[in-house]
Parts: sequence; C-alpha cells; structure tokens
Amino acid sequence: MGKYVASTLVTDFDETITQQDTINPMVQLAVKQSANPESMLSAWEDLSKWYLSQFRQPNSLVPSDAPSLESFLDHYHCSVEEISLQKVVQQRFLAGIEPYQLRQLGQQTAKKPFANQVLSRLKKAQVRIEILSANWSTDLILGAVGDLCDQVYSNNLVFDRTDPDAPTITTGEIQFHITSARHKQTRLKQTMSQRGLTTTTEAIAYIGDSVTDLLAICSADIGLLIGDNQLVHQAIDHFQIPSIKIQLGDRYYPELHRGQVICVQSWKEIELFLLA
Ligand SMILES: [Mg+2]
Repeated sequence: MGKYVASTLVTDFDETITQQDTINPMVQLAVKQSANPESMLSAWEDLSKWYLSQFRQPNSLVPSDAPSLESFLDHYHCSVEEISLQKVVQQRFLAGIEPYQLRQLGQQTAKKPFANQVLSRLKKAQVRIEILSANWSTDLILGAVGDLCDQVYSNNLVFDRTDPDAPTITTGEIQFHITSARHKQTRLKQTMSQRGLTTTTEAIAYIGDSVTDLLAICSADIGLLIGDNQLVHQAIDHFQIPSIKIQLGDRYYPELHRGQVICVQSWKEIELFLLA
C-alpha cells in the first residue's frame, strides 16, 4: 500500500472509462421496446441535433466575457444540459427497459484501453474506487464496472414495480443526483472529508474528461484530465487554470503536480503515474 500515491480514486464513467458516451445506446435500447420506434427515433434525432447545435454557435464554447469558471459552468449547465434532461424525461425516451437489459448494455460497453487493468491493479492494492457520473443509469455502470468499484454515485432510472405479474420496466423518469460540475465537486469534497487524507502517500485522485469534471479535477489532491475534449481545454486556457501534460513514464511528485490539472491521453499513462 505504501508505494501507492492515491488511497482513493474517484473517476467519471462516460468517455473516461468508456470509449463512447453511453446515452445513445441506452436510448436505442429503449426505442427497441417502444410501440412506435420510428417516431421515438425521429424525436431523439431532433433532440440530438438541438444539443449539437448548441456547440456550433460561436458563443457556445467558452464566451470571451465569462467572468469565472464557476459562472461559465453554471451557464453551460442551465442553458444546455438541464434543458436536454428535461426533454429526455418529458418525452419518456428511456421508458420500457428492464434492469437486466441495462446491466447487459453495461457489460457490452467498450472501455478505453488499459482502463480495466488500471482499476484492477488499484483495487488489488486496496485503493478505494468510486465512480462519480452524470450517467442516467447506475445499473448500466454496475454492469460495466461493478466488480471493479466500491461505490457508484450517479442517477437512477425509475422502475414501475406496481404490477407484480408484469415485468419491471423503466417509466422514463430519472431520479437525479449528479448532473452538474458543482454536484460532482460537492460529492468529491464529501469523499475527501470522509477519507480525510491529504498526505503525499494517501491522496484522493479524480479523473474525468469533460467540463462537468473540471471543478472536481481542480478540487482533488491529484486532478487528472483524460483526452482531448475541446470545450474543457478551451476552459482551461480561458480561465488560465494551471495545467501540466504528463507523458508515459512520468511519476507523481506532489510538489510539481499538486494544484495543476494533470493532462493525460490514456490509462496507460495513469497506470505508470499512479502505480509505477
Ligand atoms: Mg465523461
């Protein structure tokens, strides 16, 4: 245990552990159960186009007059994410799915290279693994990484269990717990105060890929950003958040890395950084 620098790794799920976002496959699964799959699919395509259009407008990336990271993230959450979530629930895009189908979808979800290996090695070394995700289904996450993590903090699809003779299926509603950068930061800080260790050998690490992860990355003892998400890199530049790129073989040095967003391309770098 002594040689491991992190006592807990808190990690995002979609596009941090997984290769692709799992929203679309989850909706496709629901569409297959629907009585009218064509109209569901076309409504979903309309919502996806609207979502993407928010990023094609010149001012939808980081606006030049954004006063602070927090206000930018609040605006992003209210003007894009929250509206999408309301539409997803109103139009019942996720109705009709059975719990086992969500687990199965999780099991079939492709993970990034070395993600499984790094999580397994950390777990074997008794590093606590927590998933902190704005994904809509804890069942899906458990299907993908259930044996590799100690705790999942996410959202839940609501199931209709009123008729004992009918199969348990999702209603299309979602119990929301984690949907914004602030929610993730608050949850991470709770983990940090519960685990309470901020020494150089037992730090709390957080890894994520998007703007929703940025406050948590900045709050963690070891804050790791994986990948090339354009919006998050623009936000780092715009708000002049200290960041450092690491390469294969670099080791963790608190005096060098603490207080900076540590940018990595793959789980292989994370493995060498945290476990070498
Ligand atoms: Mg993500």
